[in-house]
Amino acid sequence: MSGETIHDLFVIGGGINGCGIARDAIGRGYSVALAEMNDFASGTSSAATKLIHGGLRYLEHYEFRLVREALMEREVLWSMAPHIIWPMRFVLPFQKGGVRPAWLVRLGLFLYDHLGGRKLLPPTRSLDLRHDPAGKPLKPLFARAFEYSDGWVDDARLVVLNARDAANRGALILNRTQVISARRDDGLWLIRTRSSSGDVSDHRARMLVNAAGPWVDNVISGVLGRNNVHNVRLVQGSHIVVKRKFADPRAYFFQNPDGRIIFAIPYERDFTLIGTTDRDYTGDPRTVEITGDEMTYLCKAASEYFAEPVRPEDIVWTYSGVRPLFDDGASKAQEATRDYVLKTEGDAGQAPLLNVFGGKLTTYRRLAEHALEKIGEALGSKGRPWTAGSHLPGGDFPTGAYDDEVRVLIAHYPFLNRRHAERLIRCYGTDAKTLLGEATDEAGLGRHFGGTLFEAEVRWLMEHEWARTAQDILWRRTKQGLFLTREEAAALEEYLEGVGERLKAG
Ligand SMILES: Cc1cc2nc3c(=O)[nH]c(=O)nc-3n(C[C@H](O)[C@H](O)[C@H](O)COP(=O)(O)OP(=O)(O)OC[C@H]3O[C@@H](n4cnc5c(N)ncnc54)[C@H](O)[C@@H]3O)c2cc1C
Repeated sequence: MSGETIHDLFVIGGGINGCGIARDAIGRGYSVALAEMNDFASGTSSAATKLIHGGLRYLEHYEFRLVREALMEREVLWSMAPHIIWPMRFVLPFQKGGVRPAWLVRLGLFLYDHLGGRKLLPPTRSLDLRHDPAGKPLKPLFARAFEYSDGWVDDARLVVLNARDAANRGALILNRTQVISARRDDGLWLIRTRSSSGDVSDHRARMLVNAAGPWVDNVISGVLGRNNVHNVRLVQGSHIVVKRKFADPRAYFFQNPDGRIIFAIPYERDFTLIGTTDRDYTGDPRTVEITGDEMTYLCKAASEYFAEPVRPEDIVWTYSGVRPLFDDGASKAQEATRDYVLKTEGDAGQAPLLNVFGGKLTTYRRLAEHALEKIGEALGSKGRPWTAGSHLPGGDFPTGAYDDEVRVLIAHYPFLNRRHAERLIRCYGTDAKTLLGEATDEAGLGRHFGGTLFEAEVRWLMEHEWARTAQDILWRRTKQGLFLTREEAAALEEYLEGVGERLKAG
């Protein structure tokens, strides 16, 4: 037994929903433990389109509750984490006889602007693409467009910052630790975990939260030992990344003849992110990969709009994830509800279980608040909602002050080039200074691994953000994987293995 501690909550899953619930709960005074079997955000939460958005498309499916809640969250999340979340304008080109009539899109955008919560984000406007720079990379047949507001988030960093904040407030946060069994025992949960190094531990908790995303049903069957479990519909979504297709900071919203939509988004300065697809998935979520058909589909869809086509050989990176959607019996994958469902189980005297189905990055904070209502009903209420108005680590600066933060960082560390300073503020916000420490020149940052990645940052990520592998650092804590060569990535892996060996040797 890991000590004799009895936690109030034990959370399974270090994606956005598990980490968001853990952070909210510890901040209200519950004692909390969380286990993630792989790395934080290694499941769906690093494979998103990365939008903090109301979901314009969901209006077509009458998901007004979800859209309103998500719209309201945009500015709340922006002020919580202005380093990793920022507003983005979206250009929605249209043509006569297009997929949806212009009046319908205008009506949707009117609702989008007015359903709730928009104070700082600018409203929708019309564009003449023959004169506006947004028309430049597009085919000339698109003469008109609407431009509207939504937001952007670094999804994997959102997760790890929630985990860090929960740990800073006293939660026991276990990365690379799988929950292998959980059973009710004398009014409590007895939970068995196994770490990546093979250590098996037992934990006790008054309530169990299953926030395992696409594995939520596997936890109910494999960990809890139930039969005939089917609550979620797994829907694969893939993205491609190509060299920058346009210089404009705005993103594009393209409507396809099949009724679906895809986004083309400025990405990591030198790239364009294009996605996503929607297809039912039956395999293991861990091994999901983009298919050839999906690549062709995304290239073709984007090439309907861009004057210069997107070719498969332009693709520099792809990623794929699985949406764990609550199965509402919809016939098409793209029509399945994007809303979340929380279900508590446990008769009087039995330790309660909360299962989390579905959810979006955008609504994770509200999902956590709703989960805390259920937890309060089951365990007795503690604290009050507190996360709106709070800051995630490094996010304690005003929205809109990003440029000032970059300026201040460069003033402190004049040897940093602008690109490097901008990235550090985007990743770490006000923590960038702690990370750089006493360095007075580039050599003070230690070994250079390629791109803008130096040893000081790698060490910080290992010490403060549970990073262990090159994959953690290059593709989740940062996106420096886009800038390092294969040899540089291998050298980083070798370095990390060396540090790991030294740590083991004490
Ligand atoms: C293609 C795509 C695009 C998307 N785009 C957007 C978007 O633009 N905006 C938006 O708001 N949302 C978007 N989403 C939705 C959003 O990404 C997901 O809803 C969200 O990330 C789900 O988070 P989660 O915590 O439920 O699941 P996950 O992130 O998958 O986390 C679950 C975790 O549980 C762990 N786990 C499982 N079993 C165990 C066990 N036995 N022990 C310990 N750990 C375990 C897994 O390793 C995993 O890390 C998108 C999703 C996809 C797939």
